[in-house]
Amino acid sequence: MPGATIGVFGSGQLGRMLGLAARPLGYRFAVFAPDAEHSPAGDVADWVVQAEYADLAAVRRFARAIDVATFEFENVAADVAAAATAVGTPVRPGGHVLHAAQNRLREKTFLAQNDLPVTPFWRVDSLADLTRGLETLGGPAVLKTAAFGYDGKGQAKIMQPAEAAQAWAEINQAPAILEAFVPFKQEVSVVAGRGLNGDLAHFGVIENIHENHILDLSIAPARVSDKVRQQAIALACDVLTKLEVVGVLCVEFFVTDDDQLLINELAPRPHNSGHLTIDACLTSQFELQLRTICGLPLGNTELLRPSVMANLLGDLWHSGEPKWETVLAEPNCKLHLYGKAAARPGRKMGHCTIVADESTAAVEPLMARLVQARARLPVA
Ligand code: AMP
Repeated sequence: MPGATIGVFGSGQLGRMLGLAARPLGYRFAVFAPDAEHSPAGDVADWVVQAEYADLAAVRRFARAIDVATFEFENVAADVAAAATAVGTPVRPGGHVLHAAQNRLREKTFLAQNDLPVTPFWRVDSLADLTRGLETLGGPAVLKTAAFGYDGKGQAKIMQPAEAAQAWAEINQAPAILEAFVPFKQEVSVVAGRGLNGDLAHFGVIENIHENHILDLSIAPARVSDKVRQQAIALACDVLTKLEVVGVLCVEFFVTDDDQLLINELAPRPHNSGHLTIDACLTSQFELQLRTICGLPLGNTELLRPSVMANLLGDLWHSGEPKWETVLAEPNCKLHLYGKAAARPGRKMGHCTIVADESTAAVEPLMARLVQARARLPVA
C-alpha cells in the first residue's frame, strides 16, 4: 500500500518513469544498479544502492530494505531475483518470467509449446546447425544471439546459404536462434498488465515504426483491422496468463500481408512503445506496473485520445543541445527527457508524445506535426 518502498533493479529510463509514477501515489522508490548514482532512475529515487549485480550480499541488503522488487531490464541475472526472494521480498514479475524472456530460444519455445503463433525458428549451436536450419526454414533468415540482444544488436541477416559462415562469425559463434525472415507489412505491440489475482488490463494495439532497428515512432491506436486488433489483444492476454506474469509485459508482433499475427519478442516490463500511455491514458504503463506489483486494482488503461510518440536519440545532439522550443511550441506535445549526461548516436535520450484534440482524430496529421517538430530540434 502507499507508503511502502518499491525497489527496482536497473538505472535507466524505464526505472525513472516507474519512480515518477510511484511518487504521486505516495510510494517510496529505491534503485539498485552498478551505476545507480547520477542515473536516469537514480536521480528520481529516494535512495540508491550502487553495487554490482554479482554482489548478492548487497542484493540481499537492498531486498530487506524494500517491500517489493521489480526490474527495468530483463538481463538481471536469475540469481539476483532468487537472492531477493530468499530474504522474503517478492520479485514481480517472478524469476520464471525473467528466465523465459532472457533467452530468445526459451521464449520462442515457450510460445510454440503453448500454441501461440511465433516466427518460425531453429536452434543454432554450430555452423552445421545453422546450415540445417537454413535448409529447413528456407529463404532469407535472421540469425540472432539467444541472449543479450536488443535493438537489432547481435543479429545478422542471411540472404543466401553461402553467407552462413560469415553470419556465424558475425555473432561470435554464440548460442543462437535462426528465424525465418518475415516480410511483414506492420509491426505492432500490446502492453498489458496482470495483477496478483489474475486480473488483466491492456492499452490496446500500438503500431511501431523502426529506423535502423531502433524504435522511431509509436502510433495509437494502430492502423489495423478490428479482427487483428482483437486477436492481438487476446494473444497478449494469453501470454501473460500462461506465463503467470504478475507485472507488465509487452508482446511485439509482426503483421503479415494476409493479416496473420506472429509474435517476434516479449519484454517483461514496460516498453518503449507504451511511453505514449503516460500522456494518453488515465493509468500509464508505469502506473500499471506499480499497481500490478503492489497488488492494487489495475485502474483505467483505456486510450483517451489518439496519440503518437517519437523517440529522441542522441543523434539530435550532434551540434549541441537541441532547441526544445520547437516541440514545446506544439500545444498538444509533451516532452520527456531522461537526464542522461552523454548523448551518443543511437542512445535513447528522451521522447515526445503528441495527443489529439478529440477521440476521433486521424493519426496521420499528428504524426506529421510531431515529426516536423522533431526535425527542427537540432541546432544548425
Ligand atoms: P528484435 O531485436 O528481435 O526485436 O529485432 C529488431 C527488429 O529487427 C524488429 O523490430 C524487426 O524490424 C527486425 N526483425 C527482427 N526479426 C525479424 C524477422 N524474423 N523477420 C523480419 N524482420 C525482423
